[in-house]
Amino acid sequence: MRSLNFDKSKPLLYLVPSPIGNLEEMSPRALTIIKEADLIACEDTRMTAKLLMFFNIRKPLVSLREHNEVSESEIIIKRILNGEKIIYMSDAGYPCISDPGAKLVQIAIENGVNVSCISGPNAALNALVSSGIDPTHFYFHGFLNAKEKLKIDELKTLANKEETLIFYEAPHRIKKTIESMYMIFGDRKACIGREITKKHEEYIRDTLKNLNELDENTLIGEMVIVVEGKPQEKTITITDEEIRSLVSEYINEGLSSKDAIKRVSEQTKINKNYVYKIYHIS
Ligand code: SAM
Repeated sequence: MRSLNFDKSKPLLYLVPSPIGNLEEMSPRALTIIKEADLIACEDTRMTAKLLMFFNIRKPLVSLREHNEVSESEIIIKRILNGEKIIYMSDAGYPCISDPGAKLVQIAIENGVNVSCISGPNAALNALVSSGIDPTHFYFHGFLNAKEKLKIDELKTLANKEETLIFYEAPHRIKKTIESMYMIFGDRKACIGREITKKHEEYIRDTLKNLNELDENTLIGEMVIVVEGKPQEKTITITDEEIRSLVSEYINEGLSSKDAIKRVSEQTKINKNYVYKIYHIS
């Protein structure tokens, strides 16, 4: 289904990201859209009221968060269909990214309401691009399970991912989480982005082993963890002639031809049948 967002023939729900700590990151476009709204649905009315007060804006607010997301979304979408201009904001950063909003978007689309998101702050992307870890391909995981055993199971499912991994974590769990990551992922490059966009913004770029040794008392505030993906196995370039002579070398050392072929296959990661064929047939 195709529909142009700004041709005014269809109702529109705006998602408006909010600052992740630095109020100067509220864009002029975001402020214009907020000022034009009849109602602001938000994760926490007290947080959004504070933000609006800073910009001298007064608007009616309604809470839409995890516990009432479906029922309140249905009400809001009906009101948008009746002609009201309603926007959604979560407490910090992008709605829907480890924050409520996804159900509202889904219900909007199901009911023929267009959805448009204003560009704005997001902790994961700031951390990724500042980390120095390869940003070409990345996997955003958000929060891990708070229960240690489940967290470890979750990390195990991510251990083979080659993409750079991005996690959100609460300050009181950061130490244990880094320890579990070191245990499951091994000593990979990693970076903690702390207090991003705020006065005490800090990037700790190191390896999981060294991050695991950091003093917990220095890890305060909000944090994102960026971890290098599983290092790719190095491909060995080897000619058929070299395969043949490697097998012969092992045979001369006393291995059977079968064991020599197996060892060369393991060592070079070249299929055993191919090594067999090169040695015996060609
Ligand atoms: N919706 C937000 C976004 O787009 O980034 C994320 C909200 S999530 C509930 C909150 C988590 O995001 C925090 O626990 C932390 O991991 C991360 N976070 C948010 N603000 C941050 C900041 N200023 N510095 C570092 N991490 C931050």
